[in-house]
Amino acid sequence: MKVVKFGGSSLADAHQFKKVKDIILSDEQRKVIVVSAPGKRFKSDNKITDLLYLCHAHVKYGVSYDTIFNTIKERFEEINEALGLGVDLDKEFKTIKDNISKDNLDYIVSRGEYLSALLLSKYLGYDFVDARDFISFKYDGSIDFEMTKTRFDSLKLKHQTMVAPGFYGLGVSGRIKIMSRGGSDITGSILADLLDAEIYENFSDVSGILSADPSIIKNPKSIPIITYAELRELSYLGAKVLHEEAIFPVKAKNIPINILNTNHPEDKGTMILHDTYEYDMTHEVSMITGISGKKDFISITVYKSGSSAMVGVIKKALEILEEYKVSVENMPCGIDSFSLIVSKDSVNDILYEMVDEIKKALDTKSVSISEPIALIGIVGRAMVNSPGISGKIFGELGNHNINIETISQGADELNIMVGVKNEDFEKTISVIYERFIR
Ligand code: ASP
Repeated sequence: MKVVKFGGSSLADAHQFKKVKDIILSDEQRKVIVVSAPGKRFKSDNKITDLLYLCHAHVKYGVSYDTIFNTIKERFEEINEALGLGVDLDKEFKTIKDNISKDNLDYIVSRGEYLSALLLSKYLGYDFVDARDFISFKYDGSIDFEMTKTRFDSLKLKHQTMVAPGFYGLGVSGRIKIMSRGGSDITGSILADLLDAEIYENFSDVSGILSADPSIIKNPKSIPIITYAELRELSYLGAKVLHEEAIFPVKAKNIPINILNTNHPEDKGTMILHDTYEYDMTHEVSMITGISGKKDFISITVYKSGSSAMVGVIKKALEILEEYKVSVENMPCGIDSFSLIVSKDSVNDILYEMVDEIKKALDTKSVSISEPIALIGIVGRAMVNSPGISGKIFGELGNHNINIETISQGADELNIMVGVKNEDFEKTISVIYERFIR
């Protein structure tokens, strides 16, 4: 049995709904479907979820929301009519209107997924199963897996096939609660776990995870198979395909997640697995799986003579960052110095004040602040235990006259992270891509 999730672009209009139906009916194992709200039909279009947020903002500020509400309604009506579904949308929208209030953000925003699932279930002849009837949250806002399992167990036997809305569930208050943006990926993953699915297929508008950012590298290769751990490293610096939290529910059972493209369902896409041992034994695995990166970090380097031998020096500096609620992205160390790499945005207004505090706490005058730098993660499970790879990477960057400002690699050897000047960002990615991936 397969759990299949379709993202917003896959359900943007009636034409996309048709593709989705063809995909589902082409494989009888595709029995459990999770959907997002309709997304953009073209570049300048709006996602339904964004319109729903906007609708709530109108309600909150007491401005008439009729126009925006009707725009949302029309999008669903177009699909309903074009596919001849006959869903009573007037009734649905009346219920929504009756329940709209400024304290009901989660309810309003969740209606995109709700209606999308309602329409698709009708179109497929599958049962509609509302996410509020099984997805449960705890007081702290995280998913209550146990409660979700109990509720779903009593429900699943009644449905051979089903379409469920992603992105929301029932909060402890007994009201609808939404997840963070892109949360339908998590709903799909939870269902794959609860049903012990053979695979979790995640359809969007890209044929898998790309090995580099296509706005920097023309037609980058898509990654055939990647581990959850590699994906976490790549996503951290910006490669976003799947909601980060979607990995956890399927991880323990090693259920593969296959990233596929609704517009090119014949493409193999990317397979995400906890353990790729079998594949790696029988295939030639590229030394570097992918590269991702982000600009606009700064490095705060603290010099304190003998700091490597002193206990608690770094702790004092970190405590100050904690006070200012600044998260450290990376921390390369020297003998008499250490650098705290933080995102530029997070310190815009407080940088000098914070640095002053660090100087006082560590009793040093010597703290330097770098120009904005970019962090680039070079990720690959094949790098583990293979000598010489970092040498080759650094050699290649040197040959292209790229100065490396910071370097770090964890002992798991999965990610070599380099910091370069912001202006060298694109060049660094191209150089590594051309030499090691192309
Ligand atoms: N529709 C929601 C969003 O735009 C959730 C999702 O698509 O997964 O974030």
